[in-house]
Amino acid sequence: MKRGVDDLALFGGPEAFMQTLYVGRPNIGDRARFFDRLDWALDNQWLTNGGPLVREFEERVAEVAGVRNCIATCNATAALQLLVRAADLSGEVIMPSLTFAATAHAVRWLGLDPVFCDIDPATGCMDPKLVQELVTPRTTAIFGVHLWGRPCAVDELEKVAADNGLKLFFDAAHALGCTHDGRRVGGFGNAEVFSFHATKVVNAFEGGAIVTDDDGLARRVRALHNFGFSHEGVPEEAGTNAKMSEAAAAMGLTSLDAFETAIARNLENYECYRAEFAELAGVTVVGFDKRQRNNYQYVIVEIDEQVTGIHRDLLLEVLRAENVVGQRYFSPACHQRPPYRDAVRAPLPHTEWLADRVLALPTGTTVSREDIRRVSDIVQIAAGNGAQVTSRWLQREQRTA
Ligand SMILES: *Cc1c(COP(=O)(O)O)cnc(C)c1O
Repeated sequence: MKRGVDDLALFGGPEAFMQTLYVGRPNIGDRARFFDRLDWALDNQWLTNGGPLVREFEERVAEVAGVRNCIATCNATAALQLLVRAADLSGEVIMPSLTFAATAHAVRWLGLDPVFCDIDPATGCMDPKLVQELVTPRTTAIFGVHLWGRPCAVDELEKVAADNGLKLFFDAAHALGCTHDGRRVGGFGNAEVFSFHATKVVNAFEGGAIVTDDDGLARRVRALHNFGFSHEGVPEEAGTNAKMSEAAAAMGLTSLDAFETAIARNLENYECYRAEFAELAGVTVVGFDKRQRNNYQYVIVEIDEQVTGIHRDLLLEVLRAENVVGQRYFSPACHQRPPYRDAVRAPLPHTEWLADRVLALPTGTTVSREDIRRVSDIVQIAAGNGAQVTSRWLQREQRTA
């Protein structure tokens, strides 16, 4: 056990972990069940093209989301692009900058302009009042992001969309199984998109899904994701190929079987981190509304450098030296990086403030209580002696420069 700054691996102490601890290790579920499903697909030689496993996966995701329609896709980025096409969007799409790059990429890839909107610093999600201010004659849609599984201000965004005749979609990549005022994520706006990438709480190796109660939109998305083929197998318009394969669905179903277990473990981990950091000034675990359901997929801590004396980035280095790989979700924000640096229309002070202090810590079914205790010890030593850690680090940097 580490007692002080001298014990930190960054300053020559022994590493706390032999095996590296990561954010977003896959939740695989029952491996035997996965191979059974895969065997079934191989035995029946039905590997793709809307096979039984994909259809079952779509039904189960629609059930989780509480919606009528689900179209499974090869990933969430393609799903977002399908929505742009299926809804005939053009011009500008208003979205947050504090998100994974794919939200902006999906729009830019199709020749539209993402327009970044600042967030409410209390939630990390877009501020609906600011969305209204960014609407121009070129605006055709709003893309909300349920950051870290915290639902956006959906009612207010629905009002802004309706007032301005805009489509409203949600990037719900983090928000499978979450609720807002008792309503399930999946049914908000015109449609929502989930990701089943390997790092997400439910994975299909790679995968995504569009969920919606708009039957017409669903029909068009389904056609477009399969070369534009209609029900009868005639190509009606130029589509793409964004289908999910049966192998991916086999993993998706198996991971879904384990979803409730994963949520329970994530919640335990989250409570454990919260207890560990309860007395630590300047380190705050981002909270979730207890009346809502969440999947607790991410444990996000905010590091206040003014209070701790250590910046988030140096704390990441401290952890990395101990073989703990945290993530800057999502820093730098989209508008702070090259492809979107020129796309800023209005200042984004709250986005920049939050992006500068957030850190995702390892959680998930592979992270034990003991792991969390040891990660927390490291954070406590580093943040509890932040000024000392920072000055020792700077001295060392100067010597090696
Ligand atoms: C992971 C993620 C995506 C991309 O999902 P893919 O399935 O990898 O394409 C999009 N948006 C957000 C917010 C994400 O976290």
